Amino acid sequence: MHDLFSNDIVPTEKVKLPFANGVELFIRREDLLHPEISGNKFRKLKYNMQAALQANVKQVLTFGGAYSNHIAATAAAGRLLGIETIGVIRGEEVAGVYRENPTLKKAEADGMRFKFITRTAYRNKEDLAFLAELKREFGDFYLVPEGGTNEEAVRGTEEIIQHQDVQYDYICCAVGTGGTIAGLINRSWDHQQVYGFPALKGDFLADEIKKYTQKENWTLQLAYHFGGYAKYNAELLQFIADFKQNTGILLDPIYTGKLLFGIFDLIEQNKFAQNSKILAIHTGGLQGWNEKIK
Ligand SMILES: *Cc1c(COP(=O)(O)O)cnc(C)c1O
Repeated sequence: MHDLFSNDIVPTEKVKLPFANGVELFIRREDLLHPEISGNKFRKLKYNMQAALQANVKQVLTFGGAYSNHIAATAAAGRLLGIETIGVIRGEEVAGVYRENPTLKKAEADGMRFKFITRTAYRNKEDLAFLAELKREFGDFYLVPEGGTNEEAVRGTEEIIQHQDVQYDYICCAVGTGGTIAGLINRSWDHQQVYGFPALKGDFLADEIKKYTQKENWTLQLAYHFGGYAKYNAELLQFIADFKQNTGILLDPIYTGKLLFGIFDLIEQNKFAQNSKILAIHTGGLQGWNEKIK
């Protein structure tokens, strides 16, 4: 394994709760994994980048929206590993203005080449004909799907769980495509419950997760998407500001803010068993957001 992915131990911190409900909350600081490839995107890229290196292709192609943490992470990993990267970006209108977008500006500085496509064309991103067309345009590449989720990614996210995590009763994480929670579920112990907090509306997520796990000790908490992907309100921003003030830990309003908001809400409603221990995964995702809230 390339050195880039060799250091993968991060601290776990206890979170002081503003109310005493007989539960304890801990947070795994996956956001500290790497300064440029943080959190679950590091985990999801590890075995994909290894496979790309072994396949001896000179480039990796992937898909994402204009603010995608996965696009940013892939570009940075490509630069650090000496693999060229191509980002197929949703939204033709982004083409003219992408240098005003911090995610794409950084990805370009990391050497990523872009292809901007319409939202309609983007829906075909898994079609073999479309992928063949991309190969004609760019030459051979290793394909990483949107959000980075595939078998290799789940193998990587399984490594978030450490053997001492057997002590927890609940493991909680934010859900986008489901690759991260699938890895957590696979490595969880049967006495544990894994709770996923989707950051978007959509009832397709449970089926996506089932593609990568056979276990059934998990549920999705559907009440905390705040209107959909990348949508948020003043209440969530206030929560994130208070959390930063009380713990020193920065959350983002797309994923981890919604996760911790949801956990706090469930704790207040006494939805976790008395005296239980909860582990929340801080999946990172602070690129492009850091500056705004600090
Ligand atoms: C991408 C992302 C997620 C979603 O992960 P999935 O594996 O797609 O479910 C969660 N948190 C952060 C910070 C992310 O960047």
